[in-house]
Amino acid sequence: MGYRVDFDKMNDILAAWSEEYHIFAPAWDQRKKKVRYREIKTIDQIVLDRQSDFSPKEAYYPVSQTMFYFTDTEVTESELADDKGILIFARPCDINGMARLDCIFMENGGHADYFYARLREKVKVVMLECRESFEHCFCVSMGTNKTDKYDAAVRITEHEVLAEVRDEKLGAAFSFVSASSCDFTPKFVQENQKKLHIPKITDRSMLKPISDLEYWNQFDEKCMSCGGCNTVCGTCSCFDTVDVIYQEGSRSGERRRVWSSCMLETFTQTAGGGRARKTPGANMRFKVLHKFYDFADRFAKDGSHGIACDAQMCIGCGRCDMRCPKKISFFDAVDGLAAEIEKMNTGEEA
Ligand code: SF4
Ligand code: SF4
Repeated sequence: MGYRVDFDKMNDILAAWSEEYHIFAPAWDQRKKKVRYREIKTIDQIVLDRQSDFSPKEAYYPVSQTMFYFTDTEVTESELADDKGILIFARPCDINGMARLDCIFMENGGHADYFYARLREKVKVVMLECRESFEHCFCVSMGTNKTDKYDAAVRITEHEVLAEVRDEKLGAAFSFVSASSCDFTPKFVQENQKKLHIPKITDRSMLKPISDLEYWNQFDEKCMSCGGCNTVCGTCSCFDTVDVIYQEGSRSGERRRVWSSCMLETFTQTAGGGRARKTPGANMRFKVLHKFYDFADRFAKDGSHGIACDAQMCIGCGRCDMRCPKKISFFDAVDGLAAEIEKMNTGEEA
């Protein structure tokens, strides 16, 4: 069903939705001076003219999440703050990113991750129509510029909102404000300035020679292992668990899970001090191959996990390139690897 409403009516719709949902959208965070996914009340809070610095994952996979509380003798599972659902305004690439996180948390090892699932199952998505690419986007190369996985879709113009509404509950609010009906079908980005050559890794036997390439050493000098590229990524899922003790000497506290990053120097460090990956270059190699081989090898082979057979983990949002304080481009790292593999395959000196 298609609708057309002015901003006043859309704000009434948001007010009605907020009775049942926490509504998240890319909005200006004055404290952090960034566009992040924040709860919004009015349509003009949604930032459209620049890409959000962080992905929508923080709306349903929070940076820090208490799993349980403990004392000497008891463990009590954390509870959600309320029964409300989560409504997320997201662009097509990020909706595809959600499908990738779902694979990792819901379908890994045959068990759904309880703490992820209990928030994720509350999520409904309003797709933000995205017709023009931002500077760092390469979603078309990744096939993530389109999606049909949404409960509603909107085009927000200067004064009005056009909506396609599929979800009955969301649609009720449009009827409530007597929205006029219209034909609206969202359009998608067709071309990006950036076009990625995807590394052609056709066989596991290629992984060792790829891992041994001197190519990775360039990142030892450049990367400062800050992990910023992972925090903004909509498909990075790694976390750490930490016990927070309430008082010195106390045995009561809480266990939290907090985002972690495969680019941190200590990410693979074990209790004895050993590290599986010892250099920033090794971390970059791991990240590139995870995003452009491992994930697809596990989840995208046969289409049985709800993502396309040729899907990679990376959705081509380019946020990591925007974020890196050392101006390291993940796009260039992947594109460069594709060229290295081409050289390997043709027998040229790498
Ligand atoms: S472009 Fe960077 S931030 Fe975006 S999905 Fe790919 S790796 Fe993550
Ligand atoms: S943001 Fe840049 S410097 Fe920081 S870990 Fe990522 S690649 Fe390295």
